[in-house]
Parts: sequence; C-alpha cells; structure tokens
Amino acid sequence: MIPVFKPLIEKEEIDASRESLEMGWLGMGSYVSGFENKVKEILGTEERYVAALSTGTAGLHVALLIAGVGPGDEVIVSSFNCSADFQAISWVGAEIVFCDCLDDTLAIDMKQAAKLVTPKTKAIIVMDYDCILCDHDEIAEFAATHKLRVIHDAAHSFGSKYKGKPVGSFSDICVFSHDPVKTITCLDGGTIVVKTREELAMVHELRLLGMQQPASVMYQNQRAWTFDVERVGYRYHMLNMHAAIGLAQLSKLALIASSRRDACIKYNALLAGVTQVRTPLTDFADVTPFLYYIRVPAEDRDDLRKFLKENGVDTGIHWQPGHWFSLWKNCRAGDLSVTDRVGNEILSLPLHSRMDLALVDEVCRQIGLYFAGKAVAGTPAAGKPA
Ligand SMILES: *Cc1c(COP(=O)(O)O)cnc(C)c1O
Repeated sequence: MIPVFKPLIEKEEIDASRESLEMGWLGMGSYVSGFENKVKEILGTEERYVAALSTGTAGLHVALLIAGVGPGDEVIVSSFNCSADFQAISWVGAEIVFCDCLDDTLAIDMKQAAKLVTPKTKAIIVMDYDCILCDHDEIAEFAATHKLRVIHDAAHSFGSKYKGKPVGSFSDICVFSHDPVKTITCLDGGTIVVKTREELAMVHELRLLGMQQPASVMYQNQRAWTFDVERVGYRYHMLNMHAAIGLAQLSKLALIASSRRDACIKYNALLAGVTQVRTPLTDFADVTPFLYYIRVPAEDRDDLRKFLKENGVDTGIHWQPGHWFSLWKNCRAGDLSVTDRVGNEILSLPLHSRMDLALVDEVCRQIGLYFAGKAVAGTPAAGKPA
C-alpha cells in the first residue's frame, strides 16, 4: 500500500531524540530554545517573536486568547478548514461564523467575509490550503478596514513564501503545526509567531500554567521555584525531544521542500490528461507542499477512493467542511455552496518527503485506469470546469 502520508524519520531524527533523552532534561529546555531560534532564522525578521508549543491546535487557542477573543465575540473562518480551528474558537467561548471558500484557490472568500462582519466580529482565521497561499495583502487590508485581528493558520505552509516573504514573517498572528503528518514534524508540536514582546510574554505564561517563569531560565534546562501566577494558563509548551526532532527536520527543509515539489509537479503533469481530474492551479514555485490534492466529480470520489485502495493506493479527505458536523451545523454562515461542492470532490493523494517518483507514476496510472474503465462502461466524462 502506498500510504497517503509517510513521515521522514531518518538517522538524524533518531540520533537527535537519543541525544535529547540522554541529556536527561525532558521538559521544555535547551532544544526548545534551539528550535525557536532556528524558526526565527528561517522567518528572517527581527519584527516577529516565536514560541514553540505542544501542538498547532494549542497555537490556535493561544492565538485567539492573544487576540482577546472571548464569549460574545464572533470569529469568521472558512468552513473548509481543519476541526482544530473550530474547536479552538469553541474553547474560548466565541461564536463561529462560517464563510465560503474560493473555487480556484480554496482560500477563504474575502468578499463574502466582508458581508459577514458585524460589530461582534473580533477576528478572522485565514488558512493557506496546501500549495496555494491566501492573498495576504488583501487580508491585511480587510483587517485594517474592519479593525479585526488576523489569525493565520499556516499549518500547511511552513517553509513557503508569499511574494518572496517567508510565511510567518508578515502576519498579525501566525500558527504552524508540526504534528505527525505535517511537512516538518516534531512528533507533535506547534509554533506561534506574534508581533510584540508583550504578546510573547503572554504566550510564555499561557503555555506554562500561567507561571511567570522566565523562559530564559528554562532554556538552560533549569527552572525557577518561586514565581507569581496572574492568569489562567495551560500546559502547552514544547518538549525537548520534540524540539530535537524538529531541529533535525529543519536542517533538511530545503530537501523536504524540493522533493515534495518535484512529486507535485509530476502529479500535475501526469494528471493533466485526465479530463475528470482537476489539479491544483499552481506551478508550486516558492511553496513547501503539505498535501497533493485533486478534485474529481462528486459521484466518483468515493468509488475512486475504493478503487485506489483495492489497488494499493491510500488516499485521504481534507476535509469534511465544518458546517457538516453536528456540533457546528447551526453556526451563523454565509452561502457555503462552494464549500459543499469542494467537500464532496476533494481527494488527497500520497505525498511524502523524498518520495520515489515511480510511486507518483503508479498512483496516476491507477487513476487513469479508473476513469478509463468508467469510459468503457459508458459514463460521460465530467468534472473539469467549462
Ligand atoms: C494540522 C492542522 C491543524 C492542527 O495542528 P495540530 O498540530 O495537529 O494540533 C490546524 N489547522 C490546520 C489547517 C491543520 O492542517
């Protein structure tokens, strides 16, 4: 079976985890400081502050708290997003307002978002879906016009660039995920990027049970035993071993990016001839792809998944839209017809770091066989937009 995800765990990651374990300081310590510094170096700006956390979801929760979002507030978010975003909004007691996505980029539909703003709106969450980034200049302008905080869910776009600027270097609040399947994994982990020292200090408290414990002390594998607590806090810090693995991954970022890009470019080329398949509208320049997704006619999607599975190809669905879930089906929303369509058409194909490109050939061959079989059976081709 060709798995849809496959972590890149090599000698460097295993050595790094052993070294961090042998050091004997398992919690937040020197490796976490090293990880944060390396991320800062990749972002290449002095105007942002970086803090490592336990997960990307923790990052979204902390981001909403930093943005001052709470009960009675509304947060606009694309329904075409990960459940983590919706849960985080629910955790702070705010209301989710579902917005549609755009058919071509799958980014949040900012024209509709403008119509969804009310005096209760406090923030908007925008998410780069895989290899196509949002129009972040438009988003910044929108936020300035409506006086909203922007939470940039960049779980998919670590290592990518927007107009030449590294993702994470320009947003109001940016969040990365380093979970088991993400492009740069820490086993589990997240990074939040904020704009001010004050916000960073707040993140430091929020991630460590509210303890006013200097991060600089913990980064030396020590801790203070006396401190004050002024706010409610969580247990959201990153662990040394996770950071050590993350550092090993970051040292291979260029290779991870180029190998994934090569696979995506090959997929786009091989699938260009299959009329029923819509491929991402990008040349993958300047991005570090997390997923490779296609869209197929809704009536074929589940049959194709089954066919591929029977023929040794695992696939995924990113995602079921938020408003399809029982918990969130009654949230205020705009017209979600694009999201409904995309939710039934989207399919993630196998994409790995250092992927053997022969696997891409095989996946595409199987997709070709499925649709050729259907053509023989007399089903008309559909799927590509006119
Ligand atoms: C993975 C993901 C998250 C959650 O991050 P975790 O590290 O798994 O908690 C949030 N948003 C998006 C878009 C994701 O893909």
